[in-house]
Amino acid sequence: MVLLKFHGGCQQIGMSCVEIETQERRILLDCGMSPDNNSIPQIDDKNIDAVIVSHAHLDHCGAIPFYKFKKIYCTHPTADLMYLTWKDTLNLTKSFKEEDIQYAMESIETLNYYEEKKISENIKFKFYNAGHILGSASIYLEVDGKKILYTGDINEGPSRTLLPADTDIDEIDVLIIESTYGSPLDIKPSRKTLEKQLIEEISETIENGGKVIIPVFAIGRAQEILLIINNYMRSGKLKNVPIYTDGSLIHATSVYLSYVNWLNPKVKNMIESGINPFGDVKKADEKLVFNKNEPCIIVSTSGMVQGGPILKYLKLLKDPKNKIILTGYQAEGTLGRALEEGVKEIQPFKNKIPVRGNVVKIEFSAHGDYNSLVRYIKKIPKPEKAIVMHGERYQSLSFAMTIWKTLKIPTYVPVKGTILPI
Ligand SMILES: [Zn+2]
Ligand SMILES: [Zn+2]
Repeated sequence: MVLLKFHGGCQQIGMSCVEIETQERRILLDCGMSPDNNSIPQIDDKNIDAVIVSHAHLDHCGAIPFYKFKKIYCTHPTADLMYLTWKDTLNLTKSFKEEDIQYAMESIETLNYYEEKKISENIKFKFYNAGHILGSASIYLEVDGKKILYTGDINEGPSRTLLPADTDIDEIDVLIIESTYGSPLDIKPSRKTLEKQLIEEISETIENGGKVIIPVFAIGRAQEILLIINNYMRSGKLKNVPIYTDGSLIHATSVYLSYVNWLNPKVKNMIESGINPFGDVKKADEKLVFNKNEPCIIVSTSGMVQGGPILKYLKLLKDPKNKIILTGYQAEGTLGRALEEGVKEIQPFKNKIPVRGNVVKIEFSAHGDYNSLVRYIKKIPKPEKAIVMHGERYQSLSFAMTIWKTLKIPTYVPVKGTILPI
């Protein structure tokens, strides 16, 4: 018998963690942390034989250094990006030690997409491309004859940096799928529309002699945004002004550049013909940003304007000529959300800053929207049953309904603590 135990990521986005238990082995799929309150799944690590990690975002791997796992499997780029995620978490929370990161790094075994790994006589798995961030994977397992696909975070549509998620997948008995945009109300503008909007907003400010601040998430969003801006500048559709970068996105971008074969072939070709698609990514010279009276673009972490070097640049918002462009979801309680809601004054440090500049939100996402998720379940082989995770309650329940209507298979929406025999 195979049991699935749900430790987190149920009717929530954060601390994704599913345990697969057989007579002889216990395997975790992801072991994430909640980004809003830093909570982690409760695991008895001594009884876990291995953790298989889908990708390097905090909500999928952030809890690993809190435990001592014997073995961690992930793709090559995920290993490098996970190190950055763990270092960021350590700096922010101080809730584990550098030694814990070292221990975790030494337990990692990396694989390529489609490379089969046998964990025991009756358990093997491989990674498919998930199209979400560099190295992101869907995990395909065969456990005591049961075929399980754990999608992780997926993007079935095109992005600048990556190929879309694989849908040409072996047959599936049990599908465990994300539901970030699982409701029919979650239909997002196309990538083209979003890019056009972004460039128009930047152009408007530059033409008026202003500076544009763009807060980004370090892994994924930063590289997409830099690629778009540089592309438009190279083609002459966006005026050439200095682009300044700051924060852990600088490291993350160098990881992207280290793994050319994992990137979208278009980007790979650019790199091979000597063009750096992300532009010259290095730490901003603050003197140039603040003193030079010329338009510029500042791209910096953190994406929700909660900590990170972005805070230093917020004083530019005193000037009505300048603009901040929020490029993703802003969680409640973050400074990003406050700006989105139109606060007139912020206090990132000691001094209060009046917000006179423009605040604009253009929501890019590394997740497929509702239509994209529906296309995904229609493209992959039909499973016998489905389990919906990684979405707010409404999104999870709503997407379960969609799966039931579309595929006519039993669909489950587990809560934390659910145990499901398969
Ligand atoms: Zn993710
Ligand atoms: Zn996630």
